[in-house]
Amino acid sequence: MAQLSPMMKQYFEIKEKYNDTILFFRLGDFYEMFFDDAITASRELELTLTGRDCGQEERAPMCGVPHHAASGYIDKLIEKGFKVAICEQVEDVSEAKGIVKRAVTRVVTAGTVTNSGMLDEKSNNYLCSIFKDEDAYGLAFTDVTTGELYATEIALDKGALMCDLSRFNPKEIITDSQFMQDEKLVQFIKEKLDCSVEAVNEFYFTLEFADDKIKNQFGQNMISNKSAMIAVGVLLEYLSETQMCRLPHIREVILYGSNEFMDIDFATKRNLEITATMRENKRRGSLLWVMDDTKTSMGARMIKAWVEKPLLGYSPIQKRQLAVEELKNNSIICGELQSELSGIQDIERLISRIVTGSANCRDIVALGNSLKPVTKILNHLMPLKSSMIIALMDEIDILEDICSLIDRAIVDNPPIAVKEGGIIKEAFSEQVDIFRKAMTEGKQWIASIEQRERESTGIKNLKIAYNKVFGYYIEVSKSNIPMVPDTYTRKQTLANCERYITGELKEIEDKILGAEERIFQLEYSLFCDVRDKVASANIRIQKTAKAVAAVDCLCSLASVAAKNNYCKPNITIDDKINIKDGRHPVVEKMIKNEMFVPNDTVLNANERLAIITGPNMAGKSTYMRQVALIVLMAQIGSFVPASSADIGIVDKIFTRVGASDDLASGQSTFMVEMNEVANILENATAKSLLILDEIGRGTSTYDGLSIAWAVVEYIADVKKLGAKTLFATHYHELTELERKLNGVKNYCIAVKKRGDDIIFLRKIVRGGADDSYGIEVAKLAGVKSEVIKRAKQIVAILEEKDINKNEVLTHNKKIEEAPLPIMSFAGDEIIEDLKKIDVTTITPIEAMNILYQIKLRVEKL
Ligand code: ADP
Ligand code: MG
Repeated sequence: MAQLSPMMKQYFEIKEKYNDTILFFRLGDFYEMFFDDAITASRELELTLTGRDCGQEERAPMCGVPHHAASGYIDKLIEKGFKVAICEQVEDVSEAKGIVKRAVTRVVTAGTVTNSGMLDEKSNNYLCSIFKDEDAYGLAFTDVTTGELYATEIALDKGALMCDLSRFNPKEIITDSQFMQDEKLVQFIKEKLDCSVEAVNEFYFTLEFADDKIKNQFGQNMISNKSAMIAVGVLLEYLSETQMCRLPHIREVILYGSNEFMDIDFATKRNLEITATMRENKRRGSLLWVMDDTKTSMGARMIKAWVEKPLLGYSPIQKRQLAVEELKNNSIICGELQSELSGIQDIERLISRIVTGSANCRDIVALGNSLKPVTKILNHLMPLKSSMIIALMDEIDILEDICSLIDRAIVDNPPIAVKEGGIIKEAFSEQVDIFRKAMTEGKQWIASIEQRERESTGIKNLKIAYNKVFGYYIEVSKSNIPMVPDTYTRKQTLANCERYITGELKEIEDKILGAEERIFQLEYSLFCDVRDKVASANIRIQKTAKAVAAVDCLCSLASVAAKNNYCKPNITIDDKINIKDGRHPVVEKMIKNEMFVPNDTVLNANERLAIITGPNMAGKSTYMRQVALIVLMAQIGSFVPASSADIGIVDKIFTRVGASDDLASGQSTFMVEMNEVANILENATAKSLLILDEIGRGTSTYDGLSIAWAVVEYIADVKKLGAKTLFATHYHELTELERKLNGVKNYCIAVKKRGDDIIFLRKIVRGGADDSYGIEVAKLAGVKSEVIKRAKQIVAILEEKDINKNEVLTHNKKIEEAPLPIMSFAGDEIIEDLKKIDVTTITPIEAMNILYQIKLRVEKL
């Protein structure tokens, strides 16, 4: 085999360590990729694949991107799920002996991007680590663009894990091989969260390693919890491997408990359209869209976190609520605060760039400009008295020293480049001013020489100009060449002129260029000083940013409450929910021409479970979601769309929609529905709020009715569950249950029938619906009148025979009378096997197979 060229040898040495990435190898002004990386990148980025001699017989496949355009290409690769390692030339080419030294200076991954068009200013970009211990999961989340780091330990419960993951929505998860073994769970997470899950070095998952890493980062280890500690350690290691610089902006670990926030699982978050709509996954049309009137990016991220993490504690909810109330009552102050907030840029991400050294001058000026309104904000807050606002005022630092430093040092509109001068303001540095003076004087000098030479030579159009090759030169046009004196040295002949230099000119040139070079260096080093001084105020700045963000969120909740006519809910710790004139916060904004019809809700010990009937389109789904959203908003600390509301704190909200389409994950809709029901019955408590929307719809009538019936029985039973529940159904037979079960009440959404037509009243009233009005709705929807007529004939025949009612009623009897199935002893094994199955993660095909096997075994019993 032929010898590799030295550069290729270097390439292979580096690539070996970054095998799981696409290596961007810096060659002059380009980043080049070779071999498989080149093939992948050329395909994914639509680049031309070329080749390069590498000393071997076959040319190496190669493709490249210009270095100044690299970030767009890197973003694309990250979005497609790749990691990119950036390998730079780390010594000056002119000083290099032999081949120039190269090294990887950063690895970019989805969870660790810092400077990219991919970052959404209104969302955090979390990297997550999961450590699976014997009896717990250790979890840690960090956003390297803002420096936040959260950690917790939760029980080995997949439901709880999912709730936490959906709260943070990480872009990338790193974990141990132990966790990866649960392939179905990993697959489930990848699909639901749309993020990567990868195992990293086993060696990192030890206490000693974590303790080291944590002490190294924070100076001390304040995490007592073992699995959380390990998760944090792994996270810090991964950050140092990818960022390759110190990260002083990550300065504390916020440990949170699983009992701080309301549990909302994936399906519920999606069904309630909390942060994005179900169909289009858009912010517009979601609860967050209504609640977010923040003015800063930091505020936008924080309100999203608030909405994703409704509170469970009475007093934290109370605190936010009182602050919102105070701002709402002081609408002028709130307005002034919001107008000051509008002038503030993303302080968190700016300071992160500043402390990690990647900030340019514009970032520093932007920070300075963003700190200026802080003083005014503090002044506006002064008259307010609620405890949360007073606490926030304590956190706000007006940072006068930093503001004035930036103000004095950096020009108002600095260039992007930091090494080409033009950065430092006049009067900030004596030295800079002296150099600048020398430069202007030098230039004046040149102008005077030009004048003098014109006069002494008599060449009227003689001029002195500058270029990078010759420096300053004298230019004389062809016709005047005879008049050029001997003292000029000719340097260049062009078509219609000649260029000369003189000793005097060169002397001045040295002075000017010397000054220029020194001034560039000086300005750069002054810039670095300023940057470092600002960076050293990191903690004060971060704290201020967080407090400003919280003020932004409170103002947002106050202004949204005022604009939409919300009321302050009365938070209680009993089990009652009592809403007067409740409205759906999103639907009321979406229906422009119609009036939204408000409705009441009562849920308590005597009326725990409401069975809601009514024709399609009556408003059942809207009504039930509105109740869930009002409870959610109340526990966020927000006002709610109602005229009054008593909200007993709930621990979890579950929402299920019958036979929702989950085509993306390839599961049958009914299977998904049943998975979700299984999950609810498993995880709900008496303190939970359940919204069940037409469950059982995805199968045959009798099956569906039976399942719905059994589920209601189970939930209504206080010994088994007893959760507050709204249950919409098109099975009118279920209204029977009001008589039979304690705590069950019938409701329906009223419609008025006028001849063949129905009018939707949108009003919820006691009692079951007398009819499903299917044909009327079909007519309203524009189904051909011929079909409508025929349907009416058929329904008349069916009703005459009363097939439906009688059969179902006898069926009901059968349900009640049926003895509990008694399992034979030999069946125990089958039961054990069934317990092992994780229904939430198997595919329908697998379910069919298992069922088939079980049937065979049962037949043998
Ligand atoms: P159902 O679940 O009973 O089929 P939906 O809840 O989907 O009905 O409601 C159908 C439509 O009716 C909604 O899209 C909404 O536009 C309208 N609607 C529902 N509730 C109300 C209300 N209280 N006031 C005004 N319009 C409503
Ligand atoms: Mg519906």
